[in-house]
Amino acid sequence: MRVCLISTYELGHQPFALASPARWLADEGADVTCTDLAVECLDEAALAEAGLIAIHLSMHTATRIAAAAVPKIRAINPDAHLCFYGLYAPVNDAYLRETLGGQSVLGGEVEGELVRLYRHLAHGEPWDGGDGVALIKHRFKVPRREGLPSLDNYATLDPGDGSQVTVGYTEASRGCKHLCRHCPVVPVYNGRFFIVSREVVLEDCRRQIADGARHITFGDPDFFNGPGHALKLVEAFHGEFPEVTYDATIKVEHLHQHADKLARLRATGCLFVTTAVESVNDEVLAKLDKGHTRADFIAAVRAADAAGLTLSPTFIPFHPWATPEGYLDLLQLLAELDLIENVAPIQLSIRLLIPQGSRILELDDIHRYLDGFDAEKLSYRWSAGDPRADALQAEVRDAVQQGEREGAGRRAVFQRIWELAHAACGRTAPPLPVSHHTGGVPAMSEPWYCCAEPTEEQLAQV
Ligand code: SF4
Repeated sequence: MRVCLISTYELGHQPFALASPARWLADEGADVTCTDLAVECLDEAALAEAGLIAIHLSMHTATRIAAAAVPKIRAINPDAHLCFYGLYAPVNDAYLRETLGGQSVLGGEVEGELVRLYRHLAHGEPWDGGDGVALIKHRFKVPRREGLPSLDNYATLDPGDGSQVTVGYTEASRGCKHLCRHCPVVPVYNGRFFIVSREVVLEDCRRQIADGARHITFGDPDFFNGPGHALKLVEAFHGEFPEVTYDATIKVEHLHQHADKLARLRATGCLFVTTAVESVNDEVLAKLDKGHTRADFIAAVRAADAAGLTLSPTFIPFHPWATPEGYLDLLQLLAELDLIENVAPIQLSIRLLIPQGSRILELDDIHRYLDGFDAEKLSYRWSAGDPRADALQAEVRDAVQQGEREGAGRRAVFQRIWELAHAACGRTAPPLPVSHHTGGVPAMSEPWYCCAEPTEEQLAQV
């Protein structure tokens, strides 16, 4: 039986979430076709023959793009079993079934469940349920990347010298042991995480490096959920590929706790670490249950500096408790810490996303900011308590989009946002402090985020 696995958007990476189930399904004898709509069109011939079509929903943007693609997929093949899987599938279960016609919705460690679904369909048996979140520890397999678009179709890395480096992507663990309130991992994994064996990760890296990758992104939700595993892995990785660099995502709390390990990351080829700071206001950080404070963030910046490691902080600066003064405080701290070049401009415009099942809904005061669930946007509508914050967010978003259109550098966009934030506070913007960076800051050509609305272009592309 033919199985079509479809990805809509994975932040510029070749989709690991197609490659991993593709291996499991192919081992079962399935005829698997993978399509990544971020870089290619629907494969009409394969879709027409498929008995199972499974669409991966990694994030909010991907889910919104999938909703635009489903009518086209159904026009080609109205009869195949339609499955949605991934982080954003279980939280949107009702919408995916009732509006998009999904017949199964899977989350968590989905490979085994997809195989079970395939077996049922291949044997003509009705799917007996089992839908929902699978948190079963299984033996991971090396992803099957044959049939996916080659790595040169995807986001590249500028290591800081203006060159473009081909990037591979893998995961050394899945899920997360933390319970941050705003995080989409939490409703699915609920504090659990699973280690992928070192040999599987290394073999996946080996194959992507053979295909041209000179930098690997370890896309684990948090690389230091298992620091022993992470360090042994990068030491083996560096021993085998001393010329290949990598990046990883590590939460502020772990950077702080494991400051003594950061030099080992740098020594093994880590070029930068993405860290989800979200806010520099301790009250907001407590609401988000982030497990760090403003002081911890500053300490983490100093620890990374001491280890020669570049940080790439991410933020959710616009939330129901935001004020222009609080936003300006964030910009001032970034300028003071010499991080202007380290922050992708889109991070300064992100608005909190509250999907179904978000732990944010547990907060006592949140309901006063909410205005119902937006079924089309798959999130709760909310307004900031201070309406000036919503107005500022719209201006910052426009400035970021204009900067993207013009190809403006990070500092130039920051300058514009700096002026907007001062104006919103009724102040005149002073000159920005001079940067002490001696070289460029490593950055991907497509920045990390998980909660932006898709652009008109992305929706039109499918
Ligand atoms: S925000 Fe990061 S550390 Fe917190 S639960 Fe999500 S993945 Fe884990």
